[in-house]
Amino acid sequence: MKTIAVLGSTGSIGTQTLDIVRKNPEKLKVKLLAASKPSQILINQIEEFKPEYVYIAEGEDIKGVKTLKGKDGLYELSELDIDLFINGIAGIDGILPTYLLLKNDKKLATANKEAIICLGEVLGNQYSDIFPIDSEHSAIFQCLLSGRKEEIEKITLTASGGPFLNLPQEKFKDITVEQALNHPRWKMGRKVTIDSATLMNKGFEVIEAHYLFNIPYENIDVVIHPESIVHGMVQYIDGSVIAHLSPPDMKIPISYAISYPDRWDTGVNRLNLTDIGKLTFFEPDYKKFPLLKIAKECGIKGNAYPIILTVADELSVKLFLEEKITFDQIHEYVEKVVEKAQFNKPKTFQDVMFIIQETEKLFWNIFKCKKN
Ligand code: MN
Repeated sequence: MKTIAVLGSTGSIGTQTLDIVRKNPEKLKVKLLAASKPSQILINQIEEFKPEYVYIAEGEDIKGVKTLKGKDGLYELSELDIDLFINGIAGIDGILPTYLLLKNDKKLATANKEAIICLGEVLGNQYSDIFPIDSEHSAIFQCLLSGRKEEIEKITLTASGGPFLNLPQEKFKDITVEQALNHPRWKMGRKVTIDSATLMNKGFEVIEAHYLFNIPYENIDVVIHPESIVHGMVQYIDGSVIAHLSPPDMKIPISYAISYPDRWDTGVNRLNLTDIGKLTFFEPDYKKFPLLKIAKECGIKGNAYPIILTVADELSVKLFLEEKITFDQIHEYVEKVVEKAQFNKPKTFQDVMFIIQETEKLFWNIFKCKKN
């Protein structure tokens, strides 16, 4: 029996993780559920999975279960004796728990790419303890089992291209929130769905891959693959390319992060290649999706740039979701902040948090809009 903690339990990754627990009651026991605030979904999850602890960022204690709260609660949480912590928190909120769990040598499976990116310069050397849930990185992890580190020539991340792959650029300004949230292949949370529509998500994933697998940027490729069947590929020095294929369903990478080195039945539909018929691959259009290019440049520049990028994108996406800016302004806002921001290379966790706060201030200063 493996004990697990589910951080972000009411979100997309969290609820799918609990589906896996439901399917494997003899193998998994939920010891902690964590969410930003109390909600009916959380109450239902507590009733069903009977965790010993619940963590909420804010709100009233929850009856019948030991409730950890706020920042102190996060410190307590990160010291609990639990076999595997699953981080399904969306965005920048995932950074502190990731830091604390790594510092306490906990086993961590994470879907939170923002934390991997922002902590990369400071904690990258500890990333061998992180198991990736992001589907492309889970794919690369599996392809990497076929060879040794020094035999890798390059890795390739695939991108579905999102809902606007074939939409002419002049129509980007009219894209609605609803259209942007309607991803053709993957069912995901709101932030990552918007990032997928701008291709920022793939840019983040390049940086994530760089830090997770310690691979130089010049050896990380991105190809558009609208069918979303091949999730990642590793090319070795003998010319072999090992690819990972599966139906686009997050349950597979989540399940593998929990079951590794074993594999469990996820119950997802099986791949039928003759039904799919053909798989296509082509170069990304960097003019139409400038955030992919900006993200790669920020990754290569390193230092504080991956953090600046993360914060600028998080706030721009928030403004778009609140219908305060248009879809094609997201990249303009990000670009402007990346241009103006100047920070030293972060050396400690405190430096990372400082850069985050200062970039937030800079963002609101440039765009003169109020928080909330
Ligand atoms: Mn992904």
